[in-house]
Amino acid sequence: MSKSADVGIIGGTGVYDPGLFSDRHEVKVHTPYGDPSDSITIGEYSSVKVAFIPRHGRGHRIPPHRINSRANIWALKQLGVKRIIAPSAVGSLQEAYKPGDIALPDQFVDFTKGRQYTFYDGGQVCHVSVADPFCPELREITNKKTKELGFSFHSKGTYVCIEGPRFSTRAESKFFKEVMKADIIGMTLVPEVNLAREAEICYVSIATVTDYDVWSPIPVSSAEVIETLAKNVEKTKKLVADLVPVAAGERKCACGHALEGSLL
Ligand SMILES: [Zn+2]
Repeated sequence: MSKSADVGIIGGTGVYDPGLFSDRHEVKVHTPYGDPSDSITIGEYSSVKVAFIPRHGRGHRIPPHRINSRANIWALKQLGVKRIIAPSAVGSLQEAYKPGDIALPDQFVDFTKGRQYTFYDGGQVCHVSVADPFCPELREITNKKTKELGFSFHSKGTYVCIEGPRFSTRAESKFFKEVMKADIIGMTLVPEVNLAREAEICYVSIATVTDYDVWSPIPVSSAEVIETLAKNVEKTKKLVADLVPVAAGERKCACGHALEGSLL
């Protein structure tokens, strides 16, 4: 049984089933930051060793503001993961980002309030650059694969991360849409993405749009949301399956030495 992996997948809402992978087994990883969201499934797909962790735990037990992202990222790092594919469900802030679309954000704005944002909490000070928070190489590969699958998608977008677990007020939603001109909204990207950068792991977010946020006067029924969510999960699985074999290639990006010049 192998206890290492090259590619990590942090499964978002609805993406629990690592059934894609052969020769799979579960490992429990302990970290200095506590326990990850769940045990980690290690398996193989197209000769690539993959580690899968459900972000909210199996059975969706952990609310967004309680996810121990430090433990999740630390655990993947410990297993040797160099690249993380991170699907998540999001709301839309712009008409063009339609329910059912896939968005590959290239920026985020952090509106979370009380999370653990860094591995460098004292002793050593680290100011890591997240000017471009996602791995450019992994984003390019993901863009290409999403296009090949013929899915309706957006190659860019600004993701507003809110604290949750409540949704936004209409005033907040309009502020994000009209003043910030952000594109999508969710509760889980931060600090997962910046911790991956601190861990020198490449990270790409696959955000699937479930509905328009509350700025929209169009009422959405929960049945519609559930239907869209189910379709999005199927799309995400297809995309992840296409992505894993190419994501494991040699890294030419700078993510692997992100800490150079960041530590004081
Ligand atoms: Zn990278």
